[in-house]
Amino acid sequence: MSGAKRRVYVSNTGGTIGMRLGPSGYAPAPGYLAEQLATSTAFRSASLPELVISEQQPLLDSAYMTPGDWLRIAQDIAAHYDAFDGFVVVHGTDTMAYTASALPFMLEGLGKPVILTGSQVPLCELRNDALENLLTAILIAAQEPIPEVCIFFGGRLLRGCRATKVDTQDFEAFSSPNLAPLGHAGVSIGIDWSRVRPAPQEGTALRVVDIGRPLVGALRLFPGIPSALIRSMLLPPVAGLVLEAYGSGTGPGNDADFLAAIREATDQGAVVVVTSQCLHGGTSLGGYAAGSCLAAAGAVGGA
Ligand code: ASP
Repeated sequence: MSGAKRRVYVSNTGGTIGMRLGPSGYAPAPGYLAEQLATSTAFRSASLPELVISEQQPLLDSAYMTPGDWLRIAQDIAAHYDAFDGFVVVHGTDTMAYTASALPFMLEGLGKPVILTGSQVPLCELRNDALENLLTAILIAAQEPIPEVCIFFGGRLLRGCRATKVDTQDFEAFSSPNLAPLGHAGVSIGIDWSRVRPAPQEGTALRVVDIGRPLVGALRLFPGIPSALIRSMLLPPVAGLVLEAYGSGTGPGNDADFLAAIREATDQGAVVVVTSQCLHGGTSLGGYAAGSCLAAAGAVGGA
């Protein structure tokens, strides 16, 4: 290893971490995060890697994000890929799990860490989780050769595409209910390398895949759901529907029109994926007649 400092590229997309309190509540403030970091003693530590902090324009509350913003983030990483050892994406927590789920599919051949982080409390507030989340995300991106998109938050490093926001109040705001964390940051930073994905072959180039904006919806079942609702969600030219079903993947199979709506849409090429409203475990559509009828109508289990 050469004595050269590791280099980390930090892309600030917005979110609470750098927000300021205004007349309508917290909102992004251009330049504010960088301004605060410039006066932070921690950010002058010689133990930090060399940092380049860039700010996306406009900064967004993550509730305003769309797939077009994911593409901009992916392209920004690709543009700086060769010059840096790791990447930190500063992001609002509300849709961070969506971005962290899309990016792994958009960054094909990724061989360096891309760590998303943010905070529940802005850096400008006295008691905040911003400094710790950002510092540790930067150290992980610099030191740990994890070839994955991850979320670091509240001391835990999670696989991005398995994570979800679970808490609006606690500093441990994210969880990956069906996959143990890839790492923990306590007194020291520990990575469970047995869970980390293998790196792509040496020399693999990073390729940004534009996943576009396919018309895909999500529908959460509830007892008594009218079939007209799923029918309207599956109107052409819909490409797919995530059907958040009950338990192991069951739904109102006793409603013939509900099943017919799925049949007609899948016959026309739409993909209906059945997931579970339960946080743990998975789907298995064959376990109950109330699930196998969904499969018979053309839906597929989300495993
Ligand atoms: N509304 C904010 C956002 O998602 C919440 C946060 O960052 O914690 O941008």
